[in-house]
Amino acid sequence: MDWQNVLAARNGRMKASEIRELLKLLDQPDILSFAGGIPDPALFPTETFRDAMTEALSGPASGAALQYSVSEGYLPLRDWIAGRMAQIGIPCTAQDVLITSGSQQALDYLGKLMLDPGDTALVTWPAYMGALGAFNAYQPRYDRLDPKGNRTSADIAEAAQADGGRVKFAYLSADFANPTGETLDRAGREALLDLAEELDIAVIEDAAYQALRYDGEPVPPILALELARKGDLQECRTIYSGSFSKVLSPGLRVGWVVAARPVIQQLVLMKQAADLHSPTLNQIATNHVARAIFDDHVARLRTTYAARRDAMLSALARYMPEGVRFTKPEGGMFVWLTLPPGMDAAELLAQSLKTERVAFVPGRAFFADGSNGNTLRLSFSCANAAQIEEGMKRLGRLLSSVGAR
Ligand code: PMP
Repeated sequence: MDWQNVLAARNGRMKASEIRELLKLLDQPDILSFAGGIPDPALFPTETFRDAMTEALSGPASGAALQYSVSEGYLPLRDWIAGRMAQIGIPCTAQDVLITSGSQQALDYLGKLMLDPGDTALVTWPAYMGALGAFNAYQPRYDRLDPKGNRTSADIAEAAQADGGRVKFAYLSADFANPTGETLDRAGREALLDLAEELDIAVIEDAAYQALRYDGEPVPPILALELARKGDLQECRTIYSGSFSKVLSPGLRVGWVVAARPVIQQLVLMKQAADLHSPTLNQIATNHVARAIFDDHVARLRTTYAARRDAMLSALARYMPEGVRFTKPEGGMFVWLTLPPGMDAAELLAQSLKTERVAFVPGRAFFADGSNGNTLRLSFSCANAAQIEEGMKRLGRLLSSVGAR
């Protein structure tokens, strides 16, 4: 059978992720990998999860843990999340929270919710490639989101119309972004809200790394800034997407969305149609673990990851040739490198795997137009100080040998 004849047009934009292919390399023991943007499994709160799962599966409540449950999500967990959101400047109730199967599902649903083919999604340049992958299925046009840039909202709207659609939303990973590690400052967030008001579009605030700040002044979430302007969540256009993946466990697939009621209601219908609800047992266990240890656990993650971030920045400063620039993240898992113009990070990776046995992610896949081949992403979350030191030394050596100055 020629499957091309029966595939919907939307499949044309769905490609194998460069990262997924790369993750296969992590199995080879001699590779020093800075590729995967994943939490260190040694830091998972395994014991607490084991206790939580055992408790959930013991006694009369065990039936509920294995049963179908409501599409909105497990109420005690939504209550805990509402409390946590209040702590970061977004007071809300469980009714404002929808549990999703990881924040990745939220990105897919939000694309499905808002994008007709040809509509414009404003995304950062670069953006989380998983978001581009999720949105691609809905056949958008992408335009560059640059809240501090000098393009007017009229220019942006006109370009979208000329291509036959409307601007629907702005998407960004606002804190310690994947892939750059950078955080949009308060003025940038306010400018983004102004732009969204002018264009009358939604803002998708991807807060996957929000809890992982190591130093510097916390910046209020975009939704918190909008709430401060409007005083009522129901008036807000920002959709906050949160996740337990980076702080408790990505394998359990538990994330959440906080947004105005019409968005939540529509997403609930979408969830009913797609997977009914996120796994009941995982939500119950996550609720137990979050209530038992969230703050202490996050504090422990911060200490460990901050030391790895420091090790990476210090090694980069020592080993990178002068023409290589890198970001200095205040949190998260990533450092972003810009190589001299004309260099190609994908070619460099091929060579690096062969001669230096160091893995990273070439930056091109994070750009909606596949540009900026001279960029790459390094993750420091899963390597210890010695591996970071050795890895950056090898990468510096390779860059110097291919002519970077
Ligand atoms: N957003 C960003 C910025 C991410 O880096 C990731 C994971 N790499 C996700 C969303 C998806 O995470 P999850 O579905 O596990 O919550």
